[in-house]
Amino acid sequence: MRERALRAIAECRQIAAMTEEPGRITRRFLTPPVHAVHAHLRRRMEALDMTTRVDAAGNLRGLWRPPNGNGKQFILGSHIDTVPDAGAFDGVLGVMLALECVELAQEAKLPLAIEAIAFSEEEGVRFGVPFIGSRAVAGRFDRALLALRDAEGVMLEDAIRAFGLDPAGVEQAALDDDAIGFLEMHIEQGPVLEAEGLSVAAVTVVVGQTRLTAEFQGWANHVGTTPMRLRRDALAGAAEWIGTVEAAARATEGLAATVGKIDATPNAANVIAGRVRVSLDVRHAHDAARTAAVQALLAQGEAIALRRGLAFQCARQMDQPAVPMDERLTRFLTDAMEATGFAARSMPSGAGHDAMVMAARLPAAVLFLRSPGGVSHHPEETVREMDVEAALQVAQSFLVRLAAEGR
Ligand SMILES: [Zn+2]
Repeated sequence: MRERALRAIAECRQIAAMTEEPGRITRRFLTPPVHAVHAHLRRRMEALDMTTRVDAAGNLRGLWRPPNGNGKQFILGSHIDTVPDAGAFDGVLGVMLALECVELAQEAKLPLAIEAIAFSEEEGVRFGVPFIGSRAVAGRFDRALLALRDAEGVMLEDAIRAFGLDPAGVEQAALDDDAIGFLEMHIEQGPVLEAEGLSVAAVTVVVGQTRLTAEFQGWANHVGTTPMRLRRDALAGAAEWIGTVEAAARATEGLAATVGKIDATPNAANVIAGRVRVSLDVRHAHDAARTAAVQALLAQGEAIALRRGLAFQCARQMDQPAVPMDERLTRFLTDAMEATGFAARSMPSGAGHDAMVMAARLPAAVLFLRSPGGVSHHPEETVREMDVEAALQVAQSFLVRLAAEGR
C-alpha cells in the first residue's frame, strides 16, 4: 500500500504542473490545462481496462466493469479544478485514490463495477457557482446555468463548446439506476485531525451555512470637532457587534460565526464612519442551532445600533441547510478504520464538497485525510504518506464490505 500512496502523491505533484499560470497552480473549469489532466488520467484509466468518456459538463469518467459483476456500480471521485494559487492535493488526491481503489478492487476480484469521476468544477472560481460538475452527475444541473458568464464575458454554454463538448448533452451526464453510492476521499483542509494526531476521519455531515451582509448606518462627521458624546459612529458599533459574534460562537458548541469582510464609508482617518457594511458567515451541523444563532446575532446587532443611535439592517445572501452523509456508508467507513487498526473517528465538514451535491441523488460518504498544518487553498498544502496509505487501507476494507453486502 505504501507504493500506491507514493504513486498517488507523485501524480498529484505531476498534475500540479498542468496549470494556467506557470509557477502557480491555477486550473479553472474548462481551461486548456484541463485537457492535459484528462489526457494523463485517461492513460491511467485505460491501463486499468476502464472505458473512458468526458461528459457534457466536462467530467472525466472511467468505468470498470468486472467480469463477475453483480450489476451494481459504486462511484468514487473528487474534483480537478482549483482555486487560484492552489495546493496540489485539494480534489486531485481523491481522483488519484479512486484509481488506486479500482486497482485494489480488481486485485480482490470484487463483483462491483466502479466508476471513477474527475469532477470538472467544484470551486466556483470561473463562473461564480460551485459544483457544476457534480450537479450534472447527480442529475441536478439547471439549464439556466448555461447562461452564466465568466470574468471575460464567456458564457458557460460557449465554454463547453470551446472545450469540444456539446452542452445539449448535459442531461446524459446524470448517473443511471445502477449507481448505489458515492465515496469521496478529500483532505480535511482544517487542523482537527492534525491536533488529534489522527490520519483519517469519516464525515458525518456537511454543515449548513448562512451568509448575510449587515449594515450600520450612523453619521459621518469631522473627528476633531464632533465630541464623543454627540457621535453616531457606525464603525464603533460594527466593531462592538463583531466582538459579540466571536463571543457567541466561542460559547456555542459546534458553531462557527465569522465576520471576514468590512467596508467602511468614507473610510478616512479623519472622518467618523457614517456607514459600515460587514459580512457574516454562520455555520453549524444542526440547522436549528444555526438559525437560532443567526437570529440572536441579528438581535444583538439591533440592540447595539439602538443604544448608539444607529440604524441596522441586513441582507441575506445564502441559507443553505446542512447535508448529512449516508449513515450506513459512514458506518462502513468507521468500521473499516477499526478493522485496519485506526481510530474510528468521525467529524462534520465545515467546507462544501462534491459529495454534498451527490448526496441529493444517492447515498454518499466522505473520507477525510489529515491536512498537515491545517493548510489548504494554499501552495504549501500537503499530505503525509502515512495518511494516504491509511486512506487506501480504509477504502479497501470499505469496498470489500460494500461488495459483500451490496445495497
Ligand atoms: Zn476540494
